[in-house]
Amino acid sequence: MQSPRPAVRTTCPYCGVGCGILATPDGAGGLTVTGDPEHPANFGRLCVKGSALGETVGLKGRLLAPRIGGHEATWDHALDLVARRFCDTIAAHGPDSVAMYVSGQLLTEDYYAANKLMKGFIGSANIDTNSRLCMASSVAGHKRAFGSDTVPGLYEDLEQADCVVLVGSNLAWCHPVLYQRLAAARDARGTRVVVVDPRRTATCDIADLHLPLAPGSDAVLFNLLLAEIERRGLVSEKPEGLDEALAAARATLPGATGLPHSALRQFVDLWCDSDRIVTVYSQGVNQSDSGTDKVNAILNCHLATGRIGRPGMGPFSVTGQPNAMGGREVGGMATMLACHLDIENPVHRGAVQDFWQAPRMAAKPGLKAVDMFRAVEDGRIKALWIICTNPAVSMPEADRVARALAGCDFVVVSDMIARTDTTRLAHVLLPATGWGEKDGTVTNSERRISRQRRVLAPAGQARDDWRIIAGVAARMGWGDAFAWDGPAQVFAEHAALSGVAGALGSDFDISGRAGITATDYDLLEPFLWPQSAARQGGRFFGDGRFHTPSGRARMVAVAPRPPQPTSDGHPFRLNTGRVRDQWHTMTRTGLAPRLSRHLAEPFLELHPADAARLGLAPAALAEVSNPHGRAILRVLVTDRVAPGHPFAPIHWTDETASCGRVDVLVPGAVDPHSGQPALKSATVAIRPF
Ligand code: SF4
Repeated sequence: MQSPRPAVRTTCPYCGVGCGILATPDGAGGLTVTGDPEHPANFGRLCVKGSALGETVGLKGRLLAPRIGGHEATWDHALDLVARRFCDTIAAHGPDSVAMYVSGQLLTEDYYAANKLMKGFIGSANIDTNSRLCMASSVAGHKRAFGSDTVPGLYEDLEQADCVVLVGSNLAWCHPVLYQRLAAARDARGTRVVVVDPRRTATCDIADLHLPLAPGSDAVLFNLLLAEIERRGLVSEKPEGLDEALAAARATLPGATGLPHSALRQFVDLWCDSDRIVTVYSQGVNQSDSGTDKVNAILNCHLATGRIGRPGMGPFSVTGQPNAMGGREVGGMATMLACHLDIENPVHRGAVQDFWQAPRMAAKPGLKAVDMFRAVEDGRIKALWIICTNPAVSMPEADRVARALAGCDFVVVSDMIARTDTTRLAHVLLPATGWGEKDGTVTNSERRISRQRRVLAPAGQARDDWRIIAGVAARMGWGDAFAWDGPAQVFAEHAALSGVAGALGSDFDISGRAGITATDYDLLEPFLWPQSAARQGGRFFGDGRFHTPSGRARMVAVAPRPPQPTSDGHPFRLNTGRVRDQWHTMTRTGLAPRLSRHLAEPFLELHPADAARLGLAPAALAEVSNPHGRAILRVLVTDRVAPGHPFAPIHWTDETASCGRVDVLVPGAVDPHSGQPALKSATVAIRPF
């Protein structure tokens, strides 16, 4: 056995908090993991998922070599085949006949390479990401209100606020270290905490007020708040659209929230009486067919009162994935261009094309995730490359997505795991390095860019995703544009492009790092963007300047829409979400036995009255179904949920629990502005199994 090596400073691969980690190799292929006391996201704290990372490394379940048609192949053979099939498909059917579906788990350098290949060289914007399922409505809401996809505030705002409102966010389970920071601030300075959530989640343990509002009524609640802000004379700003937004708010009736008047009054009093207020929101807001309007209803209240971009004040979208923000920075979605530039703006497209020396630039937005898999289904997309994600489990109507993949002419999957519900549908499998084996950067929810560092040797023949993409690009004839010698060069190019974007008015500009050397990249400390000292201590908009053409913020008149109604045949509205100790489809967290001790199998939280009516005892099995699919779940009888509104977690797959996939039940309805699917809501029937 070799002697242990020194700790390496890296970053957790799970949620958008982006905690710093000290990873110490044990010399035998394993790791011990502790929190990095110097990382400004967590100051040494880790949650149970991050703490268990050392138990998830190793070769178990890994994809160790390329595979074609189920048989091991050489890298050259596999990359040649991918490049040839993509070239042939493009030649026969045009650039929009191919697509990539990528992930907020990718490092920024991987994400950058994929977007450069698709948008600048293949010439199609058919590249979307599982971040579409996570926070696309926040992006759309930000752009409508601010003129840019900018998160205004910082984590320390939660510690400096007098009141923190958490909307559709189970922070205690989904962003545990940020929750720990908030709980510590509450103990130290008496921060008031409000939780707005139909379900009584673990986060309610520190809440002064829990509002169990009717599912889908968030925009009603914030419109009522805005009307009361006006009535109390607290409107202090004059954003564009103020009068229209106030009129829409005044016209909103309170009944739809299902909340008693006293609770509404308490909420409004707390919000209006707290100068320093932060409204944190997450998937409970975003994952809705009116998610963008909900986001804007929240932003409206902050914009009308000027409570934004100053210490302890502002709306705050917390992202699910570790690099959802980095993905946005490279233009990782079908509707974006690199560095927060606009794909529909010809000047922006021209600038990026010039910078890349790109032969054919995508001229229009591509297909968003749900539409992309519809296009696979009906044959418009004939070759698809899926990287670092498991859409046969995580997409709405997941069975339909799996059938679409099974019928697709050519499916490539890059993954570190050999067998998932998606890899088994691939024609070509490409082994990718995973956390601990790769170098790169991620951006967390407060715009802080941190390094992930290689600690272990790659498993088998696994390669970094940026290098795999560059290998295919070279075989398609574009080797010079993808001839990076390491991730530092990719990052330096991304940073240089951000300077071009900054000159065009983009908020995202890290061009100070454009000349970064490999040595400096190795030593890179976590840093916030923007880097301009003029920017209010790292915050945006406290100076009243926004990225709209007029420089003023925009309020949006929101007419709340109720969710799709239930029916006699499908009388329950199923809510979905995460559990504390698992991540996504469990390909990594499922490897740590202690993480499965918390909740060991897929379950259905059911109110006691519903359980009694259905004849379902605690721990019985229930069949949950609708026309889209069916899941078999263990019944957990609890009054955490309201009658008629059961809850089930998203993590289990057909690989880990037969009939445990909950997203087979979720319809493909999307928000009209963002294209984000309404993953939080499915109308279902329930009966004993
Ligand atoms: Fe990792 Fe998020 Fe836990 Fe931090 S809070 S250790 S980033 S999972």
